[in-house]
Amino acid sequence: MKLAVIGTGYVGLVSGVCFAELGNHVICVDKDHAKVELLKSGIVPIYEPGLKELMDSNTKIGRLSFTSELDQSVQESDVIILAVGTPSLPSGEADLQYIEQAARDISSALNGFKTIMTKSTVPVGTNEKIKAIIRSQTDHEFEIVSVPEFLREGSAVRDTFHPDRIVIGIERKEAAANIVELHRPLTENIIVTDIRSAEMIKYASNAFLATKISFINEIANICEKVGADVTKVAEGMGYDKRIGASFLNAGIGYGGSCFPKDTQALIQIAGNVDYDFKLLKSVVDVNNGQRFNIIHKLESILDDLYGKTIAIWGLAFKPDTDDVRAAPAFDIINSLLKRGALVRAYDPVATENFKQSIQHDNLYYSKTAEDAARQADALCIVTEWREFRQLSLQEIRSWLKTPNLIDGRNIYTEEELLNTDFVYYSVGRPKLN
Ligand code: NAD
Repeated sequence: MKLAVIGTGYVGLVSGVCFAELGNHVICVDKDHAKVELLKSGIVPIYEPGLKELMDSNTKIGRLSFTSELDQSVQESDVIILAVGTPSLPSGEADLQYIEQAARDISSALNGFKTIMTKSTVPVGTNEKIKAIIRSQTDHEFEIVSVPEFLREGSAVRDTFHPDRIVIGIERKEAAANIVELHRPLTENIIVTDIRSAEMIKYASNAFLATKISFINEIANICEKVGADVTKVAEGMGYDKRIGASFLNAGIGYGGSCFPKDTQALIQIAGNVDYDFKLLKSVVDVNNGQRFNIIHKLESILDDLYGKTIAIWGLAFKPDTDDVRAAPAFDIINSLLKRGALVRAYDPVATENFKQSIQHDNLYYSKTAEDAARQADALCIVTEWREFRQLSLQEIRSWLKTPNLIDGRNIYTEEELLNTDFVYYSVGRPKLN
């Protein structure tokens, strides 16, 4: 099939590359000329394991190309995939300006029947708006399909090739054949439904996962007070098939470009039809508070943080990505700086992105984990990068001024800490030493 992907970010680029790998001809379009130039010269502008190799091989054989010329790309394609951003407005609602602009751009380029497939996460009713925008500007026939994306950054290529399911929302089910065919090589689990249900499936899924995270984090907070170990509790819960083990890792909460904005957007979607989504509001509140547990724990060890050197390991919102959107590290570092601490921060790949949002005289970006930890009064693990796990505790101990370790992601076991002199705080487990 001939595909044009509009928006070449985390979703658009990965989808475009993977669809090319499946044998389709894909043109990736972005209005960001600098990004397109990078892509054309073979540079992947994001960190995503496994993407570069596939991008190179498919570009080489001519199945994948990059451009800022939307009109021509649309005209040469059968299916137009919308993968532009839908960030949050200050109200929490999804900002639809990019998707609406993309719809206008497509409509003026249409030269015959096209299938327009929305992958961006959009509030219920948005695909109808997209249809109305395009309908108002062209006489050409087209079909709108909602195919929400469920990939996770850091494992986006694997997730794209092995999705748990593909959801196809369409008005006329009989018109779904080409989109089913496009996804058939990926999975048997293809659900064809109406557009509004497809839009809702995406928000409901993210809201449910966010709820699981906030739930286990609250259980962790209670475990700390009653002397239980949340990792054991989660293990014991997770074997129950009705519950499942995933998303039960207690920590300092979720961040990223999806859960925070999609939970807020669903609260707004509900609010717009006079439904007060109390449960989800609590999920968001719990998550917003959870990251500050790191600060409370630091204060309980060091008392006043003024003038103390605090090492932060991890700036990305999760491992294996350079995405720092809504990363807990922002709130943690800002509150340390507000308290007069000197912060030494390190991340294996996300430092450049993070730097663009915070520069401060008391914030130093280190090039290595060791450099960040050297002579620090305490070390905080904010993102569970494998690199941190591979360092020996003895080595880490030798770098620190005082052996204070706040593990916001529970990367160590109690046994590993037993014969050390670390003052060790984790999440939902007893304090050690
Ligand atoms: P992103 O910000 O990384 O990329 C969006 C791209 O679209 C940018 O490169 C931007 O320049 C481009 N763009 C915007 N308007 C355009 C236009 N009119 N024409 C051409 N290009 C245009 O966004 P993302 O993280 O890839 O997310 C895209 C959508 O997918 C969002 O709705 C998001 O909620 C959803 N989603 C994201 C993830 C994820 O993990 N990032 C997962 C599932 C779903």
